[in-house]
Amino acid sequence: PYPLDVEAVRADFPILQRKVGGDVTVPGEDEGDTKPLVYLDNAATSHTPDQVVDTIADYYRSYNSNVHRGIHHLSQEASVAYENAHDRVAEFIGAEGREEVVFTKNTTEAENLVAYAWGLNELGPEDNVVLTEMEHHASLVTWQQIGKRTGADVRFVRVDEDGRLDMDHARELVDDDTAMANVVHVSNTLGTVNPVRELADLVHDHDGLIFVDGAQSVPHMPVDVADIDADFFAFSGHKMCGPTGIGVLYGKEHLLEEMEPYLYGGEMIRKVTFEDSEWEDLPWKFEAGTPVIAQGIALHAAIDYLEDLGMENVHAHEQLLAEYAYDRLTEREDVDIYGPPGDDRAGLVAFNLDGVHAHDLSSILNDHAVAVRAGDHCTQPLHDKLGVAASARASFYVYNTREEIDKLVEAVDDARQLFA
Ligand code: PMP
Repeated sequence: PYPLDVEAVRADFPILQRKVGGDVTVPGEDEGDTKPLVYLDNAATSHTPDQVVDTIADYYRSYNSNVHRGIHHLSQEASVAYENAHDRVAEFIGAEGREEVVFTKNTTEAENLVAYAWGLNELGPEDNVVLTEMEHHASLVTWQQIGKRTGADVRFVRVDEDGRLDMDHARELVDDDTAMANVVHVSNTLGTVNPVRELADLVHDHDGLIFVDGAQSVPHMPVDVADIDADFFAFSGHKMCGPTGIGVLYGKEHLLEEMEPYLYGGEMIRKVTFEDSEWEDLPWKFEAGTPVIAQGIALHAAIDYLEDLGMENVHAHEQLLAEYAYDRLTEREDVDIYGPPGDDRAGLVAFNLDGVHAHDLSSILNDHAVAVRAGDHCTQPLHDKLGVAASARASFYVYNTREEIDKLVEAVDDARQLFA
């Protein structure tokens, strides 16, 4: 019934063989009463298959070197691999070429790069920036603070009862003074998949720009930035089988060309005198200092891994799991689930069990070795609107199974007994 051969996939992730429990002392040492790990915290970070771990080890073992400036052999190898990684990302997301692909530390840094390099220079009190009520703090806090510094009005498209964007409200908010809109492609709390192309068209009709936060879309479904017509787009490697410390900022070439650098220093310059400096070509103009070499090369391997599985299959697999989890949890009258129905959501489910704080619930789930996230998932204003301080979130990936969701539900039953 699964579009993926899950057993074969699981074999690529040795961490999934772990049994966890007992006191946390030394990482990796399982002590006391341990149970097989059920990892359902993939929206926070996903695991890394052997193929990617081997790529990182191979880099450090065989051709570790600084890029761009070396003429020696290892430096050339590292440079070729690092530059190719940009091409691979470009191909993966439908960008025109490496000029449009800037490597950052994560999605958050990509948001800040545009907010500082573009926002601080371009925005003024006459402008507005349109966000949505379901933005992650990575964009919400960033544009809110840039709004305070520039005087630009920051406004929020309402989320309706079903956890979808109120598009009539979007049409009211976007006007000729809208300079930038920032929209999350897939909500990391509600699981809503937003109509980003429709929003891009709306914003472009008013000569504004749109930044799409793809942190929860790129890892889970086929994405093409040209189809979406995003001006800027960002995602993180660690949520898509890659390592931490690598994110991607996509930007349309002419926009990146016109933008000032965000960080100054080595690697991003072409010519320097005591009086002035000239910038390197794209994308290096935005990658000051020694860049994320091993991480970038590993992201290439992560993309190869996902494309071998097939992004359509990845998506179909998670849809089945999300629907199953939604159905199993909605069987219970004492569970509230946030966001759209099971057949119309991404692969995650945020919920609360009546009368049990999400942190207590997660701690009981942890006793069953079921890993979920508890908190506001960096969407605090959205949680305020939902009228809850926190929620528990189960989020799925290529290696998860229905049996694991059954274990989640059993653990929720146990929490019910304890807090009856
Ligand atoms: N946007 C969304 C929708 C996210 O889910 C996340 C990660 N939780 C981020 C942005 C930020 O990603 P990172 O922490 O890798 O910068």
